[in-house]
Amino acid sequence: MKLIDNTKTPLNVLDSIGVEDEGPVKGYVHSLESFGSVDGPGIRFVAFLQGCRMRCQYCHNPDTWNIGVGTEMTADELLDNAERYRAFWGETGGLTCSGGESLVQIDFLLDLFTKAKARGISTCLDTSGGPFTRDEPWFSKFKELMKVTDISLVDIKHINSAEHKKTHRDRQREHPRHDPVDVRQRLRHVDPPRSGARAHGL
Ligand code: SF4
Repeated sequence: MKLIDNTKTPLNVLDSIGVEDEGPVKGYVHSLESFGSVDGPGIRFVAFLQGCRMRCQYCHNPDTWNIGVGTEMTADELLDNAERYRAFWGETGGLTCSGGESLVQIDFLLDLFTKAKARGISTCLDTSGGPFTRDEPWFSKFKELMKVTDISLVDIKHINSAEHKKTHRDRQREHPRHDPVDVRQRLRHVDPPRSGARAHGL
């Protein structure tokens, strides 16, 4: 019989950072993609989580913006769905969470990635970094999240704050540098027409 080490369950992780146990954490999911090939290494199951406050002028998925709507799922429900496609992942694929903005639902994301790692699934976070803050308790949750994140795709919207405000409603206070933990990062940048990005050397 396989013994479960309760000191390493996701519940204990949440307890340790001050989150009360109110049953399984549920996430709001916008949509699921079973065969993603551009959202991280290899072939990946992509969960587009609901909610984003960035309001980019060029966003082609504004239906992901509203927070607290979408399909409610637990981490295990989402992972059970993802694992149906595991045979396609090979050695490099796995699970990517995108959006919307996944960090809007950091409690669910932490639960999901912790359970994914327990199942031996590669985890990838695709984020604009918009919700990032060093304020607590959010920052402690973020550090825990980075421990179970294999790679993060950080989407830099604009490197100039003034230009950023023109194109995006929420100014990023600080990009997530992930310096507390060792996580592979890829920087991504969208250069839409008339964004002014090229004029600033990006
Ligand atoms: S961060 Fe992404 S989902 Fe959010 S508004 Fe911008 S393009 Fe749309």
